[in-house]
Amino acid sequence: MREHSLTIPAPERWGEGIVSVPQGEPLELDVRLESVHEGILVSGTVDTRYEGVCGRCLRDIAEPLEVEFQELFEYPGEETADFEVQDDHVDLETLVRDATVLALPFQPVCQPDCPGLDPATGERLTEPASAQQSPVDPRWAALQNLTDHGAAHDAARDTEES
Ligand SMILES: [Zn+2]
Repeated sequence: MREHSLTIPAPERWGEGIVSVPQGEPLELDVRLESVHEGILVSGTVDTRYEGVCGRCLRDIAEPLEVEFQELFEYPGEETADFEVQDDHVDLETLVRDATVLALPFQPVCQPDCPGLDPATGERLTEPASAQQSPVDPRWAALQNLTDHGAAHDAARDTEES
Protein backbone atom coordinates (compact mmCIF):
# COMPACT_ATOMS: atom_id res chain seq x y z
CA MET A 1 0.00 0.00 0.00
CA ARG A 2 1.30 3.43 -0.90
CA GLU A 3 0.06 6.91 -0.12
CA HIS A 4 0.83 10.04 -2.04
CA SER A 5 0.04 13.70 -1.58
CA LEU A 6 0.48 15.93 -4.56
CA THR A 7 -0.76 19.24 -5.87
CA ILE A 8 -1.25 19.70 -9.57
CA PRO A 9 -3.02 22.39 -11.58
CA ALA A 10 -6.29 21.48 -13.23
CA PRO A 11 -5.29 20.65 -16.83
CA GLU A 12 -8.39 22.32 -18.23
CA ARG A 13 -11.67 23.82 -17.10
CA TRP A 14 -13.68 21.12 -15.37
CA GLY A 15 -17.44 21.50 -15.53
CA GLU A 16 -19.87 22.83 -18.09
CA GLY A 17 -22.40 24.45 -15.75
CA ILE A 18 -22.56 27.92 -14.27
CA VAL A 19 -19.79 26.93 -11.87
CA SER A 20 -16.62 25.05 -12.75
CA VAL A 21 -13.06 24.41 -11.63
CA PRO A 22 -10.94 26.84 -13.67
CA GLN A 23 -8.00 25.67 -15.70
CA GLY A 24 -4.85 25.89 -13.61
CA GLU A 25 -6.70 25.78 -10.29
CA PRO A 26 -4.61 23.75 -7.81
CA LEU A 27 -5.88 20.24 -7.15
CA GLU A 28 -4.61 18.98 -3.80
CA LEU A 29 -4.70 15.22 -3.98
CA ASP A 30 -4.34 12.68 -1.20
CA VAL A 31 -4.20 9.29 -2.87
CA ARG A 32 -3.97 5.80 -1.45
CA LEU A 33 -2.93 2.94 -3.74
CA GLU A 34 -3.61 -0.59 -2.55
CA SER A 35 -2.54 -3.74 -4.30
CA VAL A 36 -5.44 -6.17 -4.50
CA HIS A 37 -5.88 -9.40 -6.38
CA GLU A 38 -7.51 -7.92 -9.48
CA GLY A 39 -5.42 -4.81 -9.74
CA ILE A 40 -4.86 -1.59 -7.81
CA LEU A 41 -7.53 -0.03 -5.67
CA VAL A 42 -7.22 3.76 -5.80
CA SER A 43 -8.97 5.91 -3.23
CA GLY A 44 -8.47 9.43 -2.04
CA THR A 45 -9.68 12.98 -1.84
CA VAL A 46 -9.20 16.06 -3.94
CA ASP A 47 -9.37 19.55 -2.47
CA THR A 48 -9.90 22.37 -4.89
CA ARG A 49 -12.13 25.36 -5.55
CA TYR A 50 -14.86 26.13 -8.01
CA GLU A 51 -15.97 29.51 -9.26
CA GLY A 52 -18.84 30.86 -11.29
CA VAL A 53 -22.01 32.72 -10.48
CA CYS A 54 -24.85 32.33 -8.00
CA GLY A 55 -27.76 30.58 -9.69
CA ARG A 56 -30.24 33.04 -8.19
CA CYS A 57 -28.64 36.49 -8.22
CA LEU A 58 -25.76 35.96 -10.70
CA ARG A 59 -23.20 37.34 -8.26
CA ASP A 60 -19.67 35.91 -8.71
CA ILE A 61 -18.93 33.14 -6.26
CA ALA A 62 -15.94 30.94 -5.43
CA GLU A 63 -16.19 28.09 -2.97
CA PRO A 64 -13.90 25.29 -1.76
CA LEU A 65 -14.73 21.79 -2.87
CA GLU A 66 -13.62 18.50 -1.34
CA VAL A 67 -14.42 15.31 -3.18
CA GLU A 68 -13.74 11.67 -2.37
CA PHE A 69 -13.08 9.11 -5.06
CA GLN A 70 -12.43 5.39 -5.27
CA GLU A 71 -11.89 3.09 -8.22
CA LEU A 72 -10.41 -0.29 -8.96
CA PHE A 73 -7.85 -0.19 -11.74
CA GLU A 74 -7.78 -3.71 -13.12
CA TYR A 75 -4.80 -5.46 -14.56
CA PRO A 76 -5.29 -5.81 -18.31
CA GLY A 77 -7.25 -8.95 -19.06
CA GLU A 78 -9.42 -10.38 -21.76
CA GLU A 79 -12.24 -7.96 -21.09
CA THR A 80 -11.61 -4.26 -21.26
CA ALA A 81 -12.34 -2.53 -17.98
CA ASP A 82 -13.25 1.13 -17.56
CA PHE A 83 -10.05 1.67 -15.62
CA GLU A 84 -6.95 -0.39 -16.22
CA VAL A 85 -3.40 -0.47 -15.02
CA GLN A 86 -1.30 0.49 -18.02
CA ASP A 87 2.44 -0.05 -18.09
CA ASP A 88 2.50 -0.25 -14.29
CA HIS A 89 0.77 3.13 -14.05
CA VAL A 90 -2.69 4.31 -13.13
CA ASP A 91 -3.95 7.46 -14.85
CA LEU A 92 -6.05 9.32 -12.32
CA GLU A 93 -7.13 12.26 -14.46
CA THR A 94 -10.43 10.84 -15.71
CA LEU A 95 -11.30 9.47 -12.28
CA VAL A 96 -10.58 12.73 -10.46
CA ARG A 97 -12.21 14.87 -13.13
CA ASP A 98 -15.43 12.86 -13.19
CA ALA A 99 -15.69 12.83 -9.39
CA THR A 100 -15.05 16.57 -9.26
CA VAL A 101 -17.52 17.49 -11.99
CA LEU A 102 -20.22 15.34 -10.39
CA ALA A 103 -19.66 17.09 -7.07
CA LEU A 104 -20.15 20.58 -8.48
CA PRO A 105 -23.42 22.03 -7.21
CA PHE A 106 -26.19 21.92 -9.77
CA GLN A 107 -27.80 25.06 -8.39
CA PRO A 108 -25.01 27.02 -6.70
CA VAL A 109 -25.94 29.92 -4.44
CA CYS A 110 -23.90 32.74 -2.93
CA GLN A 111 -25.56 32.10 0.43
CA PRO A 112 -28.13 29.50 1.44
CA ASP A 113 -30.99 31.97 1.64
CA CYS A 114 -30.06 34.12 -1.35
CA PRO A 115 -33.33 35.85 -2.32
CA GLY A 116 -32.19 36.30 -5.90
CA LEU A 117 -33.30 39.06 -8.20
CA ASP A 118 -36.34 41.26 -7.95
CA PRO A 119 -38.73 39.86 -10.57
CA ALA A 120 -39.93 43.34 -11.50
CA THR A 121 -36.71 45.34 -11.67
CA GLY A 122 -34.02 42.67 -12.04
CA GLU A 123 -32.15 44.27 -9.14
CA ARG A 124 -30.42 42.09 -6.58
CA LEU A 125 -32.46 41.82 -3.42
CA THR A 126 -29.47 41.74 -1.05
CA GLU A 127 -25.98 43.13 -0.72
CA PRO A 128 -23.04 40.71 -0.58
CA ALA A 129 -22.85 38.92 2.76
CA SER A 130 -19.56 40.67 3.57
CA ALA A 131 -21.21 44.09 3.30
CA GLN A 132 -24.19 43.14 5.42
CA GLN A 133 -24.51 44.12 9.02
CA SER A 134 -25.93 41.64 11.49
CA PRO A 135 -29.26 40.31 10.26
CA VAL A 136 -32.14 42.56 11.12
CA ASP A 137 -35.30 41.09 12.56
CA PRO A 138 -37.89 41.75 9.84
CA ARG A 139 -40.17 43.34 12.46
CA TRP A 140 -37.53 46.05 13.01
CA ALA A 141 -36.60 46.55 9.36
CA ALA A 142 -39.08 49.41 8.95
CA LEU A 143 -37.41 51.26 11.81
CA GLN A 144 -34.00 50.85 10.22
CA ASN A 145 -35.35 52.48 7.08
CA LEU A 146 -36.40 55.46 9.21
CA THR A 147 -32.90 55.85 10.67
CA ASP A 148 -31.28 55.46 7.27
CA HIS A 149 -33.45 58.24 5.89
CA GLY A 150 -32.74 60.36 8.95
CA ALA A 151 -29.02 60.00 8.43
CA ALA A 152 -29.39 60.98 4.79
CA HIS A 153 -31.30 64.10 5.78
CA ASP A 154 -28.67 65.01 8.35
CA ALA A 155 -25.94 64.61 5.77
CA ALA A 156 -27.83 66.83 3.34
CA ARG A 157 -28.31 69.51 5.99
CA ASP A 158 -24.62 69.40 6.95
CA THR A 159 -23.69 69.98 3.33
CA GLU A 160 -26.01 72.99 3.07
CA GLU A 161 -24.59 74.54 6.26
CA SER A 162 -20.97 74.18 5.16
ZN1 LIG B 1 -27.05 34.94 -4.79
